[in-house]
Amino acid sequence: MTARTIGIIGGGQLGRMLAMAAARLNFQTIILEPQADCPAAQVANRQIIAAYDDPAALAELASACDVVTYEFENVPVSAAELLARSVAVYPPPKALEMAQDRLTEKQFLNECGVPTARFHAVDSQADLDAGIADFGGQGVLKTRRLGYDGKGQRVYRSLADSTEGGYAALGNVPLILESFVPFEREISIIAARNPEGSIRSYDPAENVHRAGILHTSTLPANLWPDTAAAAASAAETILTALDYVGVIGIEFFVLPDGGLIANEMAPRVHNSGHWTEAACVISQFEQHIRAVAGLPLGNPARHAACVMQNLIGDDIHSVPDWLARDNTLVHLYGKTEARPGRKMGHVTTLL
Ligand code: AMP
Repeated sequence: MTARTIGIIGGGQLGRMLAMAAARLNFQTIILEPQADCPAAQVANRQIIAAYDDPAALAELASACDVVTYEFENVPVSAAELLARSVAVYPPPKALEMAQDRLTEKQFLNECGVPTARFHAVDSQADLDAGIADFGGQGVLKTRRLGYDGKGQRVYRSLADSTEGGYAALGNVPLILESFVPFEREISIIAARNPEGSIRSYDPAENVHRAGILHTSTLPANLWPDTAAAAASAAETILTALDYVGVIGIEFFVLPDGGLIANEMAPRVHNSGHWTEAACVISQFEQHIRAVAGLPLGNPARHAACVMQNLIGDDIHSVPDWLARDNTLVHLYGKTEARPGRKMGHVTTLL
């Protein structure tokens, strides 16, 4: 084993599941997270309670860990770069930089030859009006940074939709206008690369969102084999271009002709990959730990068809029903307060 202690920036459910996978391989984990008793710290060896960019906390994390990773893509790039001066940081800070801004992300994907929606940078109302005119009245306006689960977005469906005040309504911050993609379904692929450059991909999942939040991931996705192969090939190109180490999640729209349009990439384990813990021998969480620790990647083959469903807010009350079902793996995140829209856990049913 090359690493003994793994630092994880971010203390949510993804950090929790990474810490659990790490423990099974005898690694220690240290969580950097400002909120005490966060989901990840409940199952980790130690928590450093501090802001993600606190220099003293970062120095402490670097000196206590053999490798540092993260569970969310809005870790300040400056913090990741500071850490990278004294400890290995995986995935590389460059991946964070690419994924944090929807404009640089799309430019990067296009440079890799991975198609995206057409787009315009929008820094004023005039930019928005020009962009909407270019796209014939249809488009999706998004904040460039810090948007997630459909937050910070506005959809224009025709030239009859007024764009008045549209720029200011999203907070006078840098925006991107994307052309409207007439997709048939949404899929994602989870793939991993280790420091030697070996790459393994899981089967693509078919995802359904509700109110902007992932509701279900179904395997197998209803896809032509060529489309599934194209998703894996795009993942391989992206991982190689970034000299990436760890797991990545890439979301795509599938067009009626089977063509793929990349929507976004997350330089971390991904909600649409939670099914892997029930339907694969090696979950995305263990795969990420193996990758960042320099271990051989595991076999991502799927041994069953399955559906993963998120438990959001009050869905937590349905846990007794899920527990009474056969072939359902219930995974809860240790959150005490069930606020609307809050991810409380997930269930994966083998079909
Ligand atoms: P995002 O925050 O980019 O994942 O977008 C949230 C959801 O909005 C996606 O899952 C799609 O259902 C929808 N959406 C986002 N961008 C577009 C687009 N350019 N065209 C059509 N639908 C979109």
